[in-house]
Amino acid sequence: MKGYLDKVAYLQTWGCQMNVHDTEKIAGVLRGEGYLFTDKPEEAALIILNTCSIREKAEHKFMSRLGYFRRLKRKRPGLLIAVAGCIAQQEGERFLIDNQYVDFTFGPQNIVRLPELILKDMRKAAVDDNPALAETDLPAIRNDDTRAWVNIMYGCNNFCSYCVVPHTRGRERSRPVDSIVGEIKTLAALCCKEITLLGQNVNSYKDPSTRASFAELLEHVNAIEDIERVRFVTSHPKDLSQELICAIRDLPKVCEHIHLPLQSGSSKILSMMNRKYSYEDYRQKINLLREHIPGISITTDIIAGFPGETEQDHEDTLSALREIGFDGAFAFKYSRRPYTAAKEMDGQLDEQIKSERLKTILELQDDITDKINRRLKGQTIEILVEGVSASDPNHWTGRTRTNKIVNFTPEKSLEKGMLITVDITNSFRHSLQGRPQG
Ligand code: SF4
Repeated sequence: MKGYLDKVAYLQTWGCQMNVHDTEKIAGVLRGEGYLFTDKPEEAALIILNTCSIREKAEHKFMSRLGYFRRLKRKRPGLLIAVAGCIAQQEGERFLIDNQYVDFTFGPQNIVRLPELILKDMRKAAVDDNPALAETDLPAIRNDDTRAWVNIMYGCNNFCSYCVVPHTRGRERSRPVDSIVGEIKTLAALCCKEITLLGQNVNSYKDPSTRASFAELLEHVNAIEDIERVRFVTSHPKDLSQELICAIRDLPKVCEHIHLPLQSGSSKILSMMNRKYSYEDYRQKINLLREHIPGISITTDIIAGFPGETEQDHEDTLSALREIGFDGAFAFKYSRRPYTAAKEMDGQLDEQIKSERLKTILELQDDITDKINRRLKGQTIEILVEGVSASDPNHWTGRTRTNKIVNFTPEKSLEKGMLITVDITNSFRHSLQGRPQG
């Protein structure tokens, strides 16, 4: 079969930023093995699919895409197909048994073993729970040279009753401060301006030997020359400390934005979710954030239709959205996931009820976001220039410190990675329009 080269790989990713960054590491490891990359699977000798199992929908999309690759392999039996990420980890050997045309699978903790898996002429599921492997510093190929994601920890200890992550990414492990700072200094030397620190629950970060907290880590990152902005994701409300709030307030490079998943406005449902905070606790944290950091933008995640959620619980979520006034929210229908406690709970809701509740949540939040964004019209705001807009090649895009996207007409003097000020001339639900100041 002609039309492909031996060392050309096609990579596809589903899921969260953590997965996207894992794919950057997979690409880094493959580059070390001499691989080039293609965006056409038909030209590849190796296909790696980095999967997400957080929701059933993502899993279905992946399985249908896998069907296409199966047909490719029928035409070209030498093609290597590998499945990575959370589905690989969750299903283990069983995935290979059920999908005979897949050559090997590997979980997020086993990316470092990729060269060995490619070479070995045997079908293998590399899904060991091996923290030492997960913590190995791996090279990453990042598509964006001005903004980068950096892992500060892996795994999660929280066992929220709907979530597969503790089962697929293992228990919580933090990287040492020195290793994180070293990686960011290297990125800064390569012209990176904005860092997003990544972890499932960054607020519970602890340096493995010095026990430095997340707020202390932020101080170290804030001190790195040439880095202009520092972001982090995701925060767990129960671990959001006063120390961290003060760090966001006091450290100039740490941006005034926090993503703080609420999940439900009903304390009863929060307890069933094993979130370990009530709505009142959450509300108090929001008050503290706003008191100390006026103008902070706050975004959240909401799950619609958790088992046992009554009309009143749903109404509580809508009231919470109105009361708090989030800048934005990612809302999803509850999805029954393997190995999770919620999968076995009584009171699973019909898809139709979940869809209706999700629709109401999204419509309400759209209105709230719209109102908040409209208030920015006429203001002058600093943005970091990100380059050509993904949705309109005639416009460029940038981001405010509060994580809002601003589209603008480019000028010759502008370059990606510059900090500029823009006058906000118009606002929409999911973006702003601006005019660079002369
Ligand atoms: S905090 Fe909860 S939702 Fe987030 S990764 Fe951990 S278990 Fe999942």
